[in-house]
Amino acid sequence: CGIVGYVGSADADGRPVDVVLEGLRRLEYRGYDSAGVAAVGPGGALATAKKAGKLANLVEELDAHPLPDATAAIGHTRWATHGAPTDRNAHPHVAGRVAVIHNGIVENFVALRAELAAEGVEFLSETDTEVAAHLLDRAYATTGDLTTAMQAVARRLEGTFTLLAVHADHPRTVVGARHDSPLVVGLGQGENYLGSDVAAFISHTREALELGQDQVVTITPTSVEVTDFAGASVHARRYTVDWDA
Ligand code: GLU
Repeated sequence: CGIVGYVGSADADGRPVDVVLEGLRRLEYRGYDSAGVAAVGPGGALATAKKAGKLANLVEELDAHPLPDATAAIGHTRWATHGAPTDRNAHPHVAGRVAVIHNGIVENFVALRAELAAEGVEFLSETDTEVAAHLLDRAYATTGDLTTAMQAVARRLEGTFTLLAVHADHPRTVVGARHDSPLVVGLGQGENYLGSDVAAFISHTREALELGQDQVVTITPTSVEVTDFAGASVHARRYTVDWDA
C-alpha cells in the first residue's frame, strides 16, 4: 500500500533504514495491515524484517534485532489482497539475493506460480507478489543486470504494480517499475529516494521526477535512469513539490 526506497553513499548511522521507516510513517494515513523493510550494505548482505500489524511492531523487531549497516533500503506497508496479513506474507519477499516489495495485484500469479513451481521454486508465502521476487532472481541470473532483469519481470506481470527491489550484489542501487500504480523519484545530494507518494520523502527533498506509465527506474546515490519496459531510455519530467510537509 505504501512504498519507500532510499539509496545513499554513507553506510553508517542507520540512515537508510531510518529514512525508509520515516517515509512509511508518513504513508500510514493510507491504511495497512503489515510492514517490512529490506536493506543491503557494502558487506554484500541482504537483511529483512517484517511484521504483521502496526509499524510499531516492526520498529520493536528492528530495535531487538537491528539490521546491519546499509547503503540502500526499501520499505513497505501492506494492504493484503492475496494471503492473510501474517508476518510471513508481509513484504519484502526474498528470492536468492534479491528482495522485492509490491503495491497492487499480480493478476496472472497463479500461472506464473505454477510455471516457477514446475522449475523447482519453493514458495514461502501465499501472496501474489512472491512470483515477482522469483522472476527477478531468475532474470538477474540470466542477464547479470538488475535493470534489464526488472524490465523482463515487468513484461511478464499482468495486473497493477509498483515494484521496488534491492539486490545483495548491488548495495548502492534500488530498482523499481510501475504499471497502473504510482511511483515518484525524490532527488537528493549524494542520495536518492523512491516513493509511492511524495510524502515518502518530502522531509528530505522537494525535487522530484515524475515517472510515466510502464516505466522502470534505477537509482544510485548519484544517478537516476528511467526506461520503458523494452529498455529504451525515456526522459522523466523534473518538478518541485510545492505543498507543506
Ligand atoms: N497484492 C499484494 C499482497 O497482497 C500487495 C498488496 C498491497 O498493495 O499492499 O501482498
